[in-house]
Amino acid sequence: MNIILLGPPGAGKGTQSAGLVERHGMRQLSTGDMLRAAVKAGTPVGLKAKAVMERGELVSDAIVSALIDDELASMGPDTGAIFDGYPRTAAQADALDAILAKNGRSLAHVIELEVNEDALVQRITGRFSCANCGALYHDTANPPSEPGKCDACGSTEFKRRPDDNEETVRTRMAEYRAKTAPILPGYEARGIVSRVDGMGAIDSVASAIDAILAS
Ligand code: AMP
Repeated sequence: MNIILLGPPGAGKGTQSAGLVERHGMRQLSTGDMLRAAVKAGTPVGLKAKAVMERGELVSDAIVSALIDDELASMGPDTGAIFDGYPRTAAQADALDAILAKNGRSLAHVIELEVNEDALVQRITGRFSCANCGALYHDTANPPSEPGKCDACGSTEFKRRPDDNEETVRTRMAEYRAKTAPILPGYEARGIVSRVDGMGAIDSVASAIDAILAS
């Protein structure tokens, strides 16, 4: 099963993807994670993307679609894909259709995480992750059970994303409204869109997503 998790920055796409990977053995394809890895490794793609990401703007459609194309080609046919943060434009939505068709796959669900944008800035500026295993946390909503120590791997090193500051978050939200939200009607016309209240607790959002996958 292949699904898209859609929603503005901070809606919980990464957190819910991680849960789906754990519960259902699906694979998360996050263009944001792939781009951050490319920036860290200093690859040509990373060098092109770095400044754009720091401003909160969108990296070119060709770059992100090539990343998805490569990643999907490396997956076994029985592993379901969770597209997280992709597609983000109409051109990417078209590219995804072509990539899926090429791999004999189709989209089962587009799940939109609905959120209150005012609360998102607070959500995003409070988030951090384990520098060792990538487990996701939040200062107030989801702190490690023992302060300063990762629940998953015990590491005491944490990191914050450089684009998780208020100014960049506002640009990322504007990009979502202008370029990403308009791709929803096309999926609605195909009858594959479901909406989930993304402001609920992590577990209740996960249950709502599981109910959609089982439908
Ligand atoms: P994310 O981790 O999904 O919030 O992505 C972080 C940043 O990476 C975004 O603000 C964009 O600059 C870039 N990015 C990630 N995915 C895409 C995409 N599908 N299209 C264009 N830019 C992207």
